[in-house]
Amino acid sequence: LDPEEFRRQAHLVVDFIADYYSNIEKYPVCSQVEPGYLIKTMPKSAPLQPEPIETILQDVQKHIIPGITHWQRPGFFGYFQSNGSTGNFLGEMLLTGFNIVGFNWLASPAATELEMVVMEWILKLLQLPKSFSFSSDGGGVIHGSTCESFICTLVAARDKKLNQFGMRRTDLGKLVVYCSDQTHYSLKKACKVIGISPNNIRSIQTKKSMNFQLSPHALLMAIESDVRSNLIPLYICLTVGTTPTTAVDSLLKLSDVVKRFHMWTHVDAAYAGSACICPEFRYFLDGVENVNSFSFNPHKWFLTTLDCCCLWVKERIDLTKSLCNNYVLLKNKASDTMEVVDYKDWQISLSRRFRAMKLWMVLRSYGVTGLQEVIRKHVKLAKHFEALLSADNKFEVAVPRQFANVCFRISPSALATTTNDSGDKDSNSLTQTLLESLNGSGLVYMTHVVIEGVYVIRVAIGATLTEEKHVSMLWDMVQENTSNLLAKFTD
Ligand code: PLP
Repeated sequence: LDPEEFRRQAHLVVDFIADYYSNIEKYPVCSQVEPGYLIKTMPKSAPLQPEPIETILQDVQKHIIPGITHWQRPGFFGYFQSNGSTGNFLGEMLLTGFNIVGFNWLASPAATELEMVVMEWILKLLQLPKSFSFSSDGGGVIHGSTCESFICTLVAARDKKLNQFGMRRTDLGKLVVYCSDQTHYSLKKACKVIGISPNNIRSIQTKKSMNFQLSPHALLMAIESDVRSNLIPLYICLTVGTTPTTAVDSLLKLSDVVKRFHMWTHVDAAYAGSACICPEFRYFLDGVENVNSFSFNPHKWFLTTLDCCCLWVKERIDLTKSLCNNYVLLKNKASDTMEVVDYKDWQISLSRRFRAMKLWMVLRSYGVTGLQEVIRKHVKLAKHFEALLSADNKFEVAVPRQFANVCFRISPSALATTTNDSGDKDSNSLTQTLLESLNGSGLVYMTHVVIEGVYVIRVAIGATLTEEKHVSMLWDMVQENTSNLLAKFTD
């Protein structure tokens, strides 16, 4: 690597990215290419000779950008946002530039210690209990994804339980995992990975009338029924901000039920955890002091790019006992003292990125107040959009908004010719057509969810560049397209 040539090329790449952001609104939000478009264009083999960066960047512009869905474009309202920021991008450059492999403390003491510092900073920001801190028996680690945090906490819970009951791996069929039907599907995937059969996952039904929260009573019934069948409750996942509708399970009420059964309780706040740095949203975490582990994804709503999931556990020894590997090649004096953290024992893989660098850059570049401002801005925009929908009888807000995600549909009552029986069906089909027409414009992109048989458009506000004018544009488009659809419907 020639530092001067790196400097020259990196400047070109930085200019390229800055131009991308300046011009981002020229590109359709959702990529419009056909499957196989790139494979057809690319050479069948890697180039034999080096190519100049200028040629490569031309190809990025010509071939790659058309196949990109522009998550950072202001009209991106799909899934949950994955926002980024200057601080984060620069942090990514630094961590890639250093390119360390921080599996243990010795492999790069700064990487481990910065991660510990950042995790303690965010613990304080979220007002998580002291028991999750390194100053107690707990601690925090940065994983790549919530799915990874599920796997690691499930493994820790599984091994603890097997140990406690003197059971073997062959007894896994006795262990049961609980969640709601709104829990992210990656929990089921994690169960599969660690050997918990789908038959041993209780996905408890939620109801719209309870805003899709997990019911303590339904949970108790499910657990008691399993206990009567000589099964053993192992793990429960409670969600603060579910993926379909951002429902919040009551940590206080549910942990009260769970504590009687000594199972591992994990809180998944992948999306909404970020909002809880604002005091006005912190009450959603009330009861977190009763759980075993908590995770959230800064790579959703914390100006930090993929991949970044913060996980805290109350008993770090539970994780490290299950995930530790004493590979002889990694033996060193610092680890032998047991006074350092070796993060390889807190995660699935051995190698790990220096993710703390980007999170530290974000925290320092924006400060707590800057980050709170971003959250509040998005929530305010969502509240405004929800108010516009509520004031217009063509629409129905499908579930009360909690954060910056609004779920709505065309109201069956707006369909003059529909009957009571066909209301939902007609609304479903028109709402789906509305979403297709909005997304087809290339100016905005949203996703949908079906709840209790009702087709709903989700508007997740929080992309990097979204401002009030973009939400106003969305509202104008929703109005116009709906009026056109309703006129056709009544014809
Ligand atoms: N949990 C919730 C509530 C989510 O919304 C998501 C993703 O959107 C996940 C978990 C999965 O996160 P990851 O992709 O980091 O595994």
